[in-house]
Amino acid sequence: MQIEIERLALQLENPFTLSYGTSTLRENVVVRISDGHYTGLGEAAVVPYYHETPERVIRYATDPATLAALGENPLWLEDALDRLPPADSIPARAAIDTALHDLWGQQLGQPLYRLWGHNPARCPHSSFTVAMSGDEAAYRAQVRAVSDAGYSLIKLKLGSGSVERDLALVQMARAETGAALCVDANGGWSAADALGIMPRLAALGVRFVEQPVARDDWDGWRALRAGLPPDALPIIADESVQGVASVLPLAGLADGVNIKLAKCGGLRAARQMIALARACGMQVMIGCMVESSVAVTAAAHLAPLADYADLDGNLLVTNDPYRGVRLEAGRLILPDAPGLGVSRHAA
Ligand SMILES: [Mg+2]
Repeated sequence: MQIEIERLALQLENPFTLSYGTSTLRENVVVRISDGHYTGLGEAAVVPYYHETPERVIRYATDPATLAALGENPLWLEDALDRLPPADSIPARAAIDTALHDLWGQQLGQPLYRLWGHNPARCPHSSFTVAMSGDEAAYRAQVRAVSDAGYSLIKLKLGSGSVERDLALVQMARAETGAALCVDANGGWSAADALGIMPRLAALGVRFVEQPVARDDWDGWRALRAGLPPDALPIIADESVQGVASVLPLAGLADGVNIKLAKCGGLRAARQMIALARACGMQVMIGCMVESSVAVTAAAHLAPLADYADLDGNLLVTNDPYRGVRLEAGRLILPDAPGLGVSRHAA
């Protein structure tokens, strides 16, 4: 077995402004694991606000202990995953996990979703994200463009620092489209902010709220749950959800969890989290980072198990070297090829 590294400099079509800051370039890392016959691909999303770096990813992926863990037989996928050394870089672990799954699927000659028994027709439509903007005309035009492209669910990034400003953004979007809206505060509200704005968002037809309070604001989560009526908008935790162990503490506080490969360390952990969330009666969203088609396609193989898909990360990039899952007006079309089913665009 052999591991190769490819650094990906992904150019963002629009500067991506969240409550954390603005960025125009992401430096992800693609990992290739070859058994001499097949090559599995995996991607590590290098997310600056999680203090990740390409160097940390590459250090894990090129560690002789990582290579030694792969073993000789790609069919014994679980053995290899069990043997992997602990990772200080979770996205690096996700890349190795994904590449091993891709290799396994290629060996077996079937797409991952088929090996897991997932019906690809059950993928929920993916939302498309509209970032915050200080330019009202540009913001309205962007909402209109996404709506005209046929997306039935539009995710509005909020957490501008002012709940009145946040509400104004949703009102503007509502005036431009009849599509369903959901909002993501990226932890930008206090519990009091959230309790104040959520009924007003519901009146504007918003379907759910993602990560209202900060990642570690457990008092905020409890205050929110205590203060919300039973028929309040569902709350989906995102930043508060990281690995497998983060699901149970959210049971009874959040209505659902947003699972991303770069947060949890790969497809095996993501599938464990889906099972845990379901056992707790929670909803499931499959999300992504700003990523190429390698990581977004890997996540899409899980979408048939989800209530919500938020898999537009590769569409925010202008120079994605790969192709895999396609998104047609929000409809996810999974590739019908072994493993991930991802290939590189001809140069
Ligand atoms: Mg989010």
